[in-house]
Amino acid sequence: MSRIRFNALQETLQRSPLKVLETEKRSSLFGQNVFNKYAMQQYLTRSAYESVMNAIEHGTKIDRKIADQVAVSMKDWAMSKGATHYTHWFQPLTGATAEKHDAFFESINGSLAMEKFDGEQLVQQEPDASSFPNGGIRNTFEARGYTAWDPTSPAFIYETTLCIPTIFVAYTGEALDNKTPLLRALQSLDTHATAVCKYFDKNVSKVSATLGWEQEFFLIDDALALSRQDIQLTGRTLLGHIPAKGQQLEDHYFGTIPARAMSFMQDLEQECMLLGIPVKTRHNEVAPNQFEVAPIFEEANLAVDHNSLLMDVMEKVSRRHRFKVLFHEKPFSGINGSGKHSNWSLVNSNGINLLRPGKTPMKNLQFLTFFVNTIKAVHTYEELLRASVSSASNESRLGTGEAPPKIMSIFIGSQLSAVLDELENVTKGKLSAKEKTDLKLNIIGKIPEILLDNTDRNRTSPFAFTGNKFEFRAVGASTNCAIPMTILNTIVAKQLKEFKKEVDLLIDKKGLKKDEAVFNILREYIKSSKAIRFEGDGYGESWLKEAQKRGLSFNKTMPEALKAKVSEQAIHLFEEMQVMSKVEVEARYEIDLESYIKKIQIESRVLGDIARNHVVPTAIKYQNTLLENTKNLKEIFGGDYKTIAKEQIELIMIISNHITEINSLTIKMIDERRKANKLSGVKPAEHYCKKVKPFFEKIRYHCDKLETMVDDNLWPLTKYRELLFTK
Ligand code: ADP
Ligand code: MG
Repeated sequence: MSRIRFNALQETLQRSPLKVLETEKRSSLFGQNVFNKYAMQQYLTRSAYESVMNAIEHGTKIDRKIADQVAVSMKDWAMSKGATHYTHWFQPLTGATAEKHDAFFESINGSLAMEKFDGEQLVQQEPDASSFPNGGIRNTFEARGYTAWDPTSPAFIYETTLCIPTIFVAYTGEALDNKTPLLRALQSLDTHATAVCKYFDKNVSKVSATLGWEQEFFLIDDALALSRQDIQLTGRTLLGHIPAKGQQLEDHYFGTIPARAMSFMQDLEQECMLLGIPVKTRHNEVAPNQFEVAPIFEEANLAVDHNSLLMDVMEKVSRRHRFKVLFHEKPFSGINGSGKHSNWSLVNSNGINLLRPGKTPMKNLQFLTFFVNTIKAVHTYEELLRASVSSASNESRLGTGEAPPKIMSIFIGSQLSAVLDELENVTKGKLSAKEKTDLKLNIIGKIPEILLDNTDRNRTSPFAFTGNKFEFRAVGASTNCAIPMTILNTIVAKQLKEFKKEVDLLIDKKGLKKDEAVFNILREYIKSSKAIRFEGDGYGESWLKEAQKRGLSFNKTMPEALKAKVSEQAIHLFEEMQVMSKVEVEARYEIDLESYIKKIQIESRVLGDIARNHVVPTAIKYQNTLLENTKNLKEIFGGDYKTIAKEQIELIMIISNHITEINSLTIKMIDERRKANKLSGVKPAEHYCKKVKPFFEKIRYHCDKLETMVDDNLWPLTKYRELLFTK
């Protein structure tokens, strides 16, 4: 066994769980490090408090004087909790979070020292942002972007730094982050959903999207992870033979959480409590060493911030516990990957969940309106929604056994399917009195308030209705969920806008009653969006054929899928809904392609290095042992040695063959990389995808075969069984 592998295993086996002291009740810790409503009430003047609340609830501007007041109070509050620095915390297009810390401490004229933080520093900052990806929006010589305070997501303290959630935009106004378009999408959704809500309740003043994510991840001992350069550099294994025992016994799922992982979770949950991240659920996932944490759902922008923050906190806490946390969507071949199921719904200013059936027919008509419009939106923009979850790493998860396919479809369950089928037969135009009563009493009146359609709850659907929300399951574990949330909320906003226009037309021009008009339009939508509804097995081969027949798109690769983000339809949509300009859309596309290229390039280099510098030399070493052995046998047994050393000779030949293949495949792969690097536009991404990536599986095949033959004592790479079953 190589020294690195041996030492790593020794180290791992000696680890014991870190003791986590739980001194207080969780609930008493909740939000202690957050400048939330409670802290604001204590620290702000009444008018400042009202101004911030107005900004949160109605998007009003906070004037400079008030900002100064808020800044001073925020600083006082933060310092009372031991903070010494502040930072504008934002989500650049790298998908991670970024921060630049400044001390409160300032010296005036080089002598008088004091802590200072005013409105200017709270509201706007200019980070040196030249190295954040911008897709050509800013020239690097004038790399000026600025961060601006987002009062809708409260400031918090992490490790003695006051973190202020901000957007990040170029001086010319274009968004350079993931939060800005999300906020614009949520604003647009609010406008159009509120207008539709008013058909049912005049008093509704706002509609918000809610999000409850479920974060899956792997926890691998850090010594073991460090012993594998593929995990270290790419976040996943690029080779490794499947162990004798994988997840087939399903004994990990919902089993007891192993002690070390449990101690990590406790520590993590305490940190989350302090930061106001309402984590509620933790459990083992299907694969060994795979886990999930999920919070109580929140308003979408806050939920997105909390997810980004959680991922950062997880990295930090995992280091304390000597773990490496893997967010990669498919870190191990042949073992389940990790997703970030995104549960989404809409709530109005009266606290009513618009995707929850109600007690009265009228409430149910409202429910059906939002339900059917969402289905219609997903149908119209299925390709764009598919693109929203596309990333180099998620591509290897989607469509592999346990994860949703790369084709969008919606599962709604048998009860609601029956309701939609009946509604489809409603008469066009005016309804008879009998029909109206019938509809209200027998069809929509019969939707139970709580839909327990769980018996046939379909786990294979990428977008499933689960009783009072939709669950978008195609989202990948490492994705910033702002991206799919921006797209989902934008398409629903657009759909509701169209709906309102069509209903109003029937009321104004055809003289239909409001309910009649709503029924009429819903009926058309149910018909025209039928192709997106699928209740069967999304993992089955037959669905691929069926989906194609239905005209649903099937974009297998990231470069293919991404095109939908810059299609005419998409650009038109984003511009109309004021979510992104053409320049912003195209810049993001460029960044996505670039990131794809870089990721595949790095993986290809790492794989080439491991295969040729680790696997091949090890195989040769073992082959030499075999040769030596054969030579010795020949010396002793003379002419008979060929029978006696038959196995050895065969192995020598097989090993030679694998070595030859690895070498020639690696050379070919490098050659394709060279060709790709000379191309421009979309072409390098396509070349990496179609010409470079296919070598991964081929090279891996030979390496993995060698793993099963070569003396375990010589094998340099920590094996799957060690990575996955060391607790
Ligand atoms: P499961 O899907 O595992 O059976 P639940 O149905 O309880 O579990 O919810 C899963 C996730 O959905 C949780 O993170 C929860 O916060 C979230 N969720 C529940 N209701 C809503 C809602 N109205 N809007 C958004 N997310 C929700
Ligand atoms: Mg779920």
